[in-house]
Amino acid sequence: MKEESRCSFCVKLFKWFPVLFITAVIGWSYYSYVIQLCFLTVEDMDEKVCYLITYHPLLVLFLWSYWQTIFTDVYSIPKQFKIPAAEFEKLQKEPNEENQRRLLEQLSTDLPVLCRTFSGAIRVCEKCRMIKPDRAHHCSVCGKCVLKMDHHCPWVNNCVSFSNYKFFILFLGYALVYCVFISLTTLQYFIKFWTNNLKGYGKFHILFLFFVAVMFAISLVSLFGFHCYLIIANRSTLESFRPPVFRMGPDKNGFSIGRYQNFIQVFGNDKVKWFLPVHTSLGDGVAFPQRPRDEDTDSLLNPRQHHCEEVGDEEDLSSPEQTSDLLPLQTDLRSTKQQL
Ligand SMILES: [Zn+2]
Ligand SMILES: [Zn+2]
Repeated sequence: MKEESRCSFCVKLFKWFPVLFITAVIGWSYYSYVIQLCFLTVEDMDEKVCYLITYHPLLVLFLWSYWQTIFTDVYSIPKQFKIPAAEFEKLQKEPNEENQRRLLEQLSTDLPVLCRTFSGAIRVCEKCRMIKPDRAHHCSVCGKCVLKMDHHCPWVNNCVSFSNYKFFILFLGYALVYCVFISLTTLQYFIKFWTNNLKGYGKFHILFLFFVAVMFAISLVSLFGFHCYLIIANRSTLESFRPPVFRMGPDKNGFSIGRYQNFIQVFGNDKVKWFLPVHTSLGDGVAFPQRPRDEDTDSLLNPRQHHCEEVGDEEDLSSPEQTSDLLPLQTDLRSTKQQL
């Protein structure tokens, strides 16, 4: 037992390494920028004050968003989605698929569930023994079902989901602005380094600060751009690879209610709070507005059949979701595809 708890402690500690790494990089960037660049290298007082006055609010917003993304817990699935033990046993013992499906429909009569599996059944998580709310998925790292799950992010050691999606977007945005600001303001001193006009030991900090800021900015621009696209389209990362399935079949735009309204769903109606990492997302994460659909057109196109041919059977799609992000988007997308 002792061995087991020691092991789980080691796993927990290991999961914090990416967060500690990012924190250490931010700490070092503060020392290099404020002490080495602003105090010890920049000679012009106006330039120095201008850099410091812009840098600090930006750093606060960046760290605040990062903190909120890491420490905002995923919202628990409401109790009414839990399948009673007796009913769950009955479900497992039921050999007939049609009867299983009917039982699940009965269990979900009062629940706001619109999404289905590819075979048209109500979605169930066998690990949590509950009916999955729309857009919820089981995260193997967190070990539970997560409302509007986007992906599990090792860089924040948390699931990016309904509860912290806005914070995650702001974190990416502020991190990008932070890196671009550092890159632009260190550029002239980076050039001085190569022309031997920069003296002292601190010049190496400024050199590496420029390199690291540019490297992170390049990684972030694609990831941030991808998530901006997802917000406008009202899709999660998982849904961008596996469209949600409704009664009439899969529909990648099923939750899209117009670009501006999609944005409002994540950022809320209060414009003052749009750029602050405080919770303003609309809804409860359980039920989502759906786009008006033309059912006749849907059934004529028969998208379910078309999609099943494309992606294979449901068994392949039921694996848990985990993706990594921040550093090369390509790796992020590839790993998500593999897991789907
Ligand atoms: Zn689950
Ligand atoms: Zn997770």
